[in-house]
Amino acid sequence: MKFETSRAKALDKLNYFIENNLSAYSKLRNFDFGPENRSNISCLSPYVTHGIIDEKEIIKRSLGKFSFSKNEKFIQEVLWRTYWKGWLELRPNVWSDYLIELSKIRDDFKNNQNYLNAIDGKTNIECFNSWVNELKDHNYLHNHTRMWFASIWIFTLELPWQLGAEFFMQHLYDGDAASNTLGWRWVAGIQTKGKHYLASEWNIKKFTNNRFSNIKLNENALSKISEKTYSIIKQDFNNPQTIEDRNLLIFENNLSFEITDFYNNKFRKIYLISNKNENRFIKLGEKVVKFKSLLISDQEQRLKNNSIDCEIIDISEIKNIQNSYALYPSVGENLDYLYSNSIKIDFLYRKLDQHSWQYCNKGFFNFKNYIPKIISTFN
Ligand SMILES: Cc1cc2nc3c(=O)[nH]c(=O)nc-3n(C[C@H](O)[C@H](O)[C@H](O)COP(=O)(O)OP(=O)(O)OC[C@H]3O[C@@H](n4cnc5c(N)ncnc54)[C@H](O)[C@@H]3O)c2cc1C
Repeated sequence: MKFETSRAKALDKLNYFIENNLSAYSKLRNFDFGPENRSNISCLSPYVTHGIIDEKEIIKRSLGKFSFSKNEKFIQEVLWRTYWKGWLELRPNVWSDYLIELSKIRDDFKNNQNYLNAIDGKTNIECFNSWVNELKDHNYLHNHTRMWFASIWIFTLELPWQLGAEFFMQHLYDGDAASNTLGWRWVAGIQTKGKHYLASEWNIKKFTNNRFSNIKLNENALSKISEKTYSIIKQDFNNPQTIEDRNLLIFENNLSFEITDFYNNKFRKIYLISNKNENRFIKLGEKVVKFKSLLISDQEQRLKNNSIDCEIIDISEIKNIQNSYALYPSVGENLDYLYSNSIKIDFLYRKLDQHSWQYCNKGFFNFKNYIPKIISTFN
C-alpha cells in the first residue's frame, strides 16, 4: 500500500479502482485482507481529505462506469465524509469541547501504563497490537479495522475515546477533524446516543479472513454516556455576490485549485498555507507532516505550470497578507488558528458543501434520502 504524493497518482488510483474493483465494492468492502491487499476498497481517503481529488469528481467518475443503483453503496460512503463535515459545521462546539477534554485527559493519562502499552502495541490482544504497528507503518487503517480498533480501545482496554482519536489524528494520512472525532464518538455510543459499536471475536475473524487468533474482548460493555447535548448553531455558508480581484489562501483541505468552483475567478496571488506542528493542538507524526508538505508542493508546482502566481507560506504569516479570501478550511485546527489569532477573512464555500450541509441537521439515514438531489446539482 503506497500513498504517492501527487494529483496525477491520486487520479491513477481512482481510475484503476473504478475500472477494476468498484464492481465488487459493496460485496467486499467490509473485509480487511491486510495492508498488502487493499484492492476491495479505494484507499482514496488521504487524497480526499486534502482536496487532491474531491467527492464530486469521484462520484461523477463512478457514474460514468455504472448506474446510480449499482453504485449506491459506494456513493453513500463517499458522501459520509461530506455528511460528517456538515454535521460538525452545524455543531462546532463538539470539536472545541473535544479539545478541552483531551487537554485534561492527556494530563491524567501521561503515565498510565495501560495507555502507554496501547500506543506501543504492547497489549495482550494480538490483532490490536498488529493494527497499532500497521497504523504507524502505513498511516492508514481499513474502515472496519478503525471500528474494531476504537471499540477495543474504549470497551476492552477501557481507555478514553479522546486519546484514541488523538492517536489516529497523529498517524493517519487522512486524519480529518470531522470523520475522526465523529467516528470515535459513534463507536463510543455518544454520537447516536446509546448506540455503541462492540467489536466481537467472530466478526474480526470473519472479516480478516482468520488472520488473527486469541481475540478476547469485552463483548458486553455498555455504551458510554455523555450529558452534553449540542443544538444546531444556525449559520449561512454564503459566498460574496461578486468575487473581487484579491489574494486567495488555500489550506490543506483544498489542494487542487483546478477542480474548485473558483477556478475561473481571477485572484491576485494564491498562498498555500502550511501548518506545521508549532500551531497545532494535536501534534502530527513526522510522516504525516511530510505527506502534507509534499502534497502542498505538488499543488504549487501544478499552479506554476499553469502560470498562476503562488507561494507556500507558514500559517503564522497569514497576518501579513492583506485583502484576501480563503477557501473555507472547515472546523479543525486551521480554522481554530484563524479564530484564536483574531484573523478575519472572507471564506469561499464549495457548492457541494452549500448543497449538502443543509441536510446534516439529523442522522445519516435522513441525509441519504437527499443524495440523488445533491448529485443532481453536479452538472
Ligand atoms: C473511528 C474512526 C475514525 C475515522 N477517522 C477518519 C479520518 O480521520 N479521516 C477519514 O478520512 N476517514 C476516517 N474514518 C472513515 C473511514 O474509515 C475512512 O474514510 C476509510 O477507511 C477510508 O478508506 P478508503 O478510502 O479505502 O474508503 P472507501 O471504502 O473506498 O470509501 C471511499 C471514500 O468514501 C469516504 N468514506 C468511506 N467511509 C467513510 C466513513 N465511515 N466516514 C467518512 N468518510 C468515509 C472516504 O472519503 C473514502 O475515501 C474513520 C472511521 C472510524 C470508524
